[in-house]
Amino acid sequence: MIKFNDNINSIKGIGEKKRDRLNHMGIFSVENLLEHYPYRYLDKRNVLISNRVSEDHNSLVQGVLKKVQLRKLSNKRSVVECKFNDDGGVFIASFFNMPYLFKTLKQGDMYSIYGVMRNRNGLRTWTNPEIALKDSDKDKRGIIPVYRCTAGITNNDFYKWMKIALGEANLSNDWIGTKLIENNKLCSKEFALKNIHFPIDEKHYKAAKYRIVYDQLLLYQIAVKLNRNHILEIQEDSSIEDVSIQEFLDSIGFSLTNGQLSTIREIESDLISSRAMNRLIQGDVGCGKTVVAEAAIFKTVKAGYQAVLMAPTELLARQHYNTIKNDLDKFGYNSKLLISGIKSSERKDILQDLVDGKIDILIGTHAILQDDVIFNNLGLAITDEQHRFGVMQRKSLFNKGRSVNICVMSATPIPRTLAATVFGDMDFSIIKDKPSNRLPIITRMVNNESRERAYIALKKELDLGHQAYVVAPSINSEDDDISSVEELYTELLEKFNGYNVSLIHGKLDKEEKDLIMQEYLDGNIDILVSTTVIEVGIDVPNASIIILENSERFGLAQMHQLRGRVGRSNVQSYCYLVNYSRSESSLARNNAMVNISDGFEISEEDYNLRGPGDIMGTMQSGNYHSNILSLCRYTDILDLAINDAEFLIDNPNNCDMEYVHNYINSFSVLDNSNVI
Ligand code: ADP
Ligand code: MG
Repeated sequence: MIKFNDNINSIKGIGEKKRDRLNHMGIFSVENLLEHYPYRYLDKRNVLISNRVSEDHNSLVQGVLKKVQLRKLSNKRSVVECKFNDDGGVFIASFFNMPYLFKTLKQGDMYSIYGVMRNRNGLRTWTNPEIALKDSDKDKRGIIPVYRCTAGITNNDFYKWMKIALGEANLSNDWIGTKLIENNKLCSKEFALKNIHFPIDEKHYKAAKYRIVYDQLLLYQIAVKLNRNHILEIQEDSSIEDVSIQEFLDSIGFSLTNGQLSTIREIESDLISSRAMNRLIQGDVGCGKTVVAEAAIFKTVKAGYQAVLMAPTELLARQHYNTIKNDLDKFGYNSKLLISGIKSSERKDILQDLVDGKIDILIGTHAILQDDVIFNNLGLAITDEQHRFGVMQRKSLFNKGRSVNICVMSATPIPRTLAATVFGDMDFSIIKDKPSNRLPIITRMVNNESRERAYIALKKELDLGHQAYVVAPSINSEDDDISSVEELYTELLEKFNGYNVSLIHGKLDKEEKDLIMQEYLDGNIDILVSTTVIEVGIDVPNASIIILENSERFGLAQMHQLRGRVGRSNVQSYCYLVNYSRSESSLARNNAMVNISDGFEISEEDYNLRGPGDIMGTMQSGNYHSNILSLCRYTDILDLAINDAEFLIDNPNNCDMEYVHNYINSFSVLDNSNVI
């Protein structure tokens, strides 16, 4: 019998290599594995007749292979074209860049084909569908889960492992007592796990999903409430002396916006109050949050305390470090960067100087949360881009000094009602205005045919001496529709011969990434082709155009974040969305981008477009925090969870509190998993 907290090794078929890869995804235990929920499903319950299939939907058909041929295309590309026959007549399946299929597919055999049908020149055509020999192992029937995968781990691996885990693990322990289960008419945890992975039908799936959403929201609400209680309990005087920050304000080369000024004032009054600051600062991309952080740091250090600033990625930490060093060290402050990449001797020195109080400002990533990082007298902790930091990170920071003042900066505008729930333990500041020299970013959508316009605009910007970003959604395209960054890079090298074009993605070494970013910052790179690694926080004011390839693949909030990489100075900036899809939902998202520039409005629209309780809809996995935010769409479950969290804290016998604490402590692991 496998236990929930057993290492994933205990599952047959997971050796060292696969274990490492799973660990990398934040999956360590059998429980983690079972909580790697499918993000969508393939409905392979019924085989359809090919002429009854409607366009643009996934469907399963079966046919006898009548003819197969391999055609070479330009650029080492190829297509295998297959002609099938079923009771509905002839249909076609074409496979791009899979020449091996030409050898494996046999005329006369019967195959199952699953994918989207499109009418091409009057022929029903499946492009790059799944294909399996009828009744072979691969020819699965039912509602098939699709998991977020990683290099070296396929969906089929997850499929097999889930079957084993669900079959062999003891699922009968439920962390929620019968009282809440009965009152809320919940299904059991066992039922939920079985049916979220392998639902028999919509009804089973719905019950399972309800329970899982409920569990996650409930656990999160318990964490928020426990955190608040904890902070109130151990509260010590956190006040610092009310020193003036005027000399810092005088040293910045621009005048602050009203939003920046009022936020700085709120922070100042938090800092001098005996109650610890616990403040969320929300401000759209480009509104200038960094300088607000600097003002807070300036005051804290001047009053004799240390300050720490955490960023979600090393790239960003380095950028903040450079800014802060440049802006604050001239006041006699000592700033240091602590990231996991540095030499161990250097790290040792930093830690020693930190304990001795020789370092005033420490900037870094999650590395700062490790136990051996000990401050002399930490007074202020700021985290940038909050959505990567959950309740537990805030708590662990809080425990690193006497009552530490905490400030969380977020560019992900969260609708107010949600914010009050998810950050129920915090105060809010909102920076609504942008620096007055900013022009709205002109956003345009182009498609397959009009794509060239985006690149003409790009060339125009380069010729004005500006820089550009071109962003694509994936690294290697398996799907022919998605331009992989590498292909894109090759294309742009040719197209922009004579310009400096560089490629950056998450699979590069840290040093390589840093080097490229530095070159871009220094203006030595004209076009940066990138995956979404540049999504958060990068500040290159000279960049004036960003092109999002396959914009249909991006979420609305994500596109808005990406767009925020430009428009960071007084020059006119542009954002081009290359949308290859004709689906209504992607059009709606792209249109919202074209028409709305305000981040708060975007987030409301995002919320509306995604809508409530979609059956068979997306169960996001990965980033825990954005996951919780998206789960908050289930407002009735959320209300229930808020109530029941209160109840469980007062009546802990009604649940397994040890499970709750273990679960809450694992948030940090999940929080990291979405950093590319
Ligand atoms: P974000 O809020 O997205 O983190 P940043 O703090 O990176 O934004 O600021 C974006 C850019 O705007 C930076 O180059 C910064 O120096 C500049 N900036 C910030 N505040 C102002 C202001 N009040 N006037 C002009 N420029 C500003
Ligand atoms: Mg920022």
